[in-house]
Amino acid sequence: MFSYRHAFHAGNHADVLKHTVLIATLDHLLEKEAALTVVDTHAGAGLYRLDGDYADTSGEAANGILRLLAPPAPSKEPAAPGPAAKSAAKKVAPEAEAPLADAIARYLSVIGDFNPKGGARVYPGSPFIVQHLLRDHDKLKLFELHPTDARTLDANIAQLEAGRQIAVLREDGFGSATKFLPPPSRRALVLMDPSYEIKSDYARVLDFAAEALKRFATGTYAVWYPIIPRPEAHDLPRRLKTMATKAGKPWLHATLTVKSSKLTATPTGETKRPGLPASGMFLINPPYTLKPLLAAALPQLAEKLAQDRNATFSLDSGG
Ligand code: SAM
Repeated sequence: MFSYRHAFHAGNHADVLKHTVLIATLDHLLEKEAALTVVDTHAGAGLYRLDGDYADTSGEAANGILRLLAPPAPSKEPAAPGPAAKSAAKKVAPEAEAPLADAIARYLSVIGDFNPKGGARVYPGSPFIVQHLLRDHDKLKLFELHPTDARTLDANIAQLEAGRQIAVLREDGFGSATKFLPPPSRRALVLMDPSYEIKSDYARVLDFAAEALKRFATGTYAVWYPIIPRPEAHDLPRRLKTMATKAGKPWLHATLTVKSSKLTATPTGETKRPGLPASGMFLINPPYTLKPLLAAALPQLAEKLAQDRNATFSLDSGG
């Protein structure tokens, strides 16, 4: 079965990108009164403790959400310019004194709602972020297949006493989530956030998106994906772009790189993988408000979450 557990990765740079985009997207979609249905095809456990065993073991949040919460260093030596850092720095400087971009401030305020005493001991996953923002008449459909995470998700959601607003399904999100499309109000956001631990996840995202668009062409679709040296990962945004363009739908593609993807040598001479260096979000039918928000937020995220001089970002849209 699956070995991926999101608890090891909660609050890392990929979550920061994904959840910043998710919140900015939802904020816009929730401006209209008509009910919204959110389908989270790969929900995870819903809520994580950053001071718990899993997060402590990996320490990934330390280079993600926790960096954004840390007060800025009093004096900061400018990074020696590598090619990518240079291009990010051009758009960022003088970032240390600049106020936080609206989308980042909003993300931090949502995380703050779960941590009234400050910090980020509790990190909400996508199900809790979405539920926190939804109104009573909106709906949330959560898919999670991992037996342990599905149980935890069930228990976490039960505490919300949200009744019929939230459905937790221990089903294959790729296999059956399209049954909720289109929803009766004909307004939906679908988040596709698989773990990509099996290569076929890339193709399944594409198949799912194609089927979903066919059933419900005006839904908003958001796909998170890892940027790693693997042909399927490289091809995914390109194929999503082709799909959206052929369907005549607008799209937006945002990426955040925090470090080089090159193998590094350990002191004993072995080579080491660097861990996830970058990730992207691809949206079909994005809100028109998203691009300007990300144009302001991504340079700051690239600077604040940089782990080496290769940190950078990109933002592109079409349709
Ligand atoms: N969306 C969550 C968030 O932002 O907090 C994180 C989700 S995590 C990256 C991916 C989850 O998908 C894992 O918990 C994994 O067990 C689950 N999963 C993997 N394959 C699945 C499938 N076919 N259907 C539903 N869930 C699946």
